[in-house]
Amino acid sequence: MSARPQPTGVPTPAAVIGHYLDGRVVTPAGARRLAVFNPALGRVIRELVLAGPADVDAAVQSALAAQPAWGRLPALQRGRVLFRFKELLAQHARAIARTLSEEHGKTLADAEGEVTRGMEVVEFACGAPQLLKGEFSDSVGTGVDSFTMRQPLGVVAGITPFNFPAMVPLWMFPVALACGNAFVLKPSERDPSVSLLLADLLRQAGLPDGVFSVVQGDKAAVDAILAHPGIAAVSFVGSTPVARYIQQQGTAAHKRVQALGGAKNHAVVMPDADLDAAAEALTGAAFGSAGERCMAISVAVAVGEATADALTGRLARRIATLKVGAPDGDGVDMGPLVSDAARARVEGYIDSGVAEGAALIVDGRGARVAGLEHGFFVGPTLFDRVMPGMRIYREEIFGPVLAVVRVPDYAAAVRLVNGHEFANGGAVFTTSGAVAHAFARDIEVGMVGINVPIPVPMAFHSFGGWRGSMFGDHHMHGPEGVRFYTRLKTVTQRWPETDAVRADFALPTMK
Ligand code: NAD
Repeated sequence: MSARPQPTGVPTPAAVIGHYLDGRVVTPAGARRLAVFNPALGRVIRELVLAGPADVDAAVQSALAAQPAWGRLPALQRGRVLFRFKELLAQHARAIARTLSEEHGKTLADAEGEVTRGMEVVEFACGAPQLLKGEFSDSVGTGVDSFTMRQPLGVVAGITPFNFPAMVPLWMFPVALACGNAFVLKPSERDPSVSLLLADLLRQAGLPDGVFSVVQGDKAAVDAILAHPGIAAVSFVGSTPVARYIQQQGTAAHKRVQALGGAKNHAVVMPDADLDAAAEALTGAAFGSAGERCMAISVAVAVGEATADALTGRLARRIATLKVGAPDGDGVDMGPLVSDAARARVEGYIDSGVAEGAALIVDGRGARVAGLEHGFFVGPTLFDRVMPGMRIYREEIFGPVLAVVRVPDYAAAVRLVNGHEFANGGAVFTTSGAVAHAFARDIEVGMVGINVPIPVPMAFHSFGGWRGSMFGDHHMHGPEGVRFYTRLKTVTQRWPETDAVRADFALPTMK
């Protein structure tokens, strides 16, 4: 491994965002380019180069060259590189959060929270020697022992969404690297700068060149990754149609795939719930990050008419106090959506909810922020009396829109949640231990909150949904992440104490 380079701080994003190959940023001449926006200002702030198959191949070739030495390094030493990376991340968290918030539009506090949650996965991955420990069985036969090893897959790729440009890549590559793989990241083309900041900190932490690469791009880069024979596995997080496509194409090319998709997370509010606390929790979970979170609560299922009336009133009053504005503004709760197309799509959903007969209690269309007249803002929006057949209930809106659905009882609430296409997270608000206990078992989603609106598992547990929210078997980070990024090998060894070995033509058994 190369000597540890001296920390040099975190670079400010360049006017043109390039790829990260072999330890340096490259911006190929003649590459297709895409504009990167500041969504609060509503204007272009930099440009991005888009990769084609040759750029993806260059990243994979340097990863293939670097991976064997990295994979053979003792896990303890890989863990030490990650430990230094974690220290650098902590040191530069604010600068990363600033760039992230500038390109994404989420508030600075939210961006800092995102970096912290990502850093926790690095902390988990620092325990590489413990995570990769195998099993050992002494004397499975006379003079025969068995043990297991978890070995790296080789070169693995990650394709990530716009809504967590730091945290979602950090769900993937620290674990993949800890397990001895080389990693090729294809970040979202809408907020790509953070990927280069992370790459630079990995370099400063002493990661050998080629072990981590970034290829910027769109569908062309993704298709080149899916087709490349040098890539053994693909981790994906994004919308459900693309997740399904990634899983189909990736597995057809004999790659291991985990593809996390979209969501429509329900919070069931029981009549016995503390309604003030529930309304407070739902407001944060629905409108934080302008609803652009795969674990946002987008449906409140009110059990009983009295609960629905009381909850909707509280929500409307709380929403009236929310401040929409510049992501770095004082006391701002919600910034803009990521793009003008996202703004138009979300407003289109609000139009459709009105047209289909839902009761629009708070209307966020046409939100204007003084001084940011070109920003992509939509205000917090609340619908009541939403019916399961409506588009605003069936489809993922991915914006600041909360739908209240009224159901008569607990059983109807569970049937509603379990009948939805998406099954990422789900929560219940109740003061009854019996209801909470039943809910955790009855609900068919991947992550459950009991009086917790956004039950994102900690780094040492694993993150993932069910049904239309995830394609593949292994969830991300935690123990499932280690399983995904390793292959299991079982060794049976015989060191005979006598030299009487005879050919055995029947399947070996212990006699
Ligand atoms: P997206 O599906 O548009 O893009 C995700 C990635 O796929 C990007 O890197 C993009 O370049 C690439 N991509 C886009 N279209 C493609 C195509 N046709 N073919 C190949 N690649 C393509 O998602 P997004 O808008 O960036 O992110 C928001 C979505 O991600 C939401 O649906 C949200 O629920 C989901 N999400 C899910 C989770 C989860 O854990 N389940 C977490 C975060 C976000």
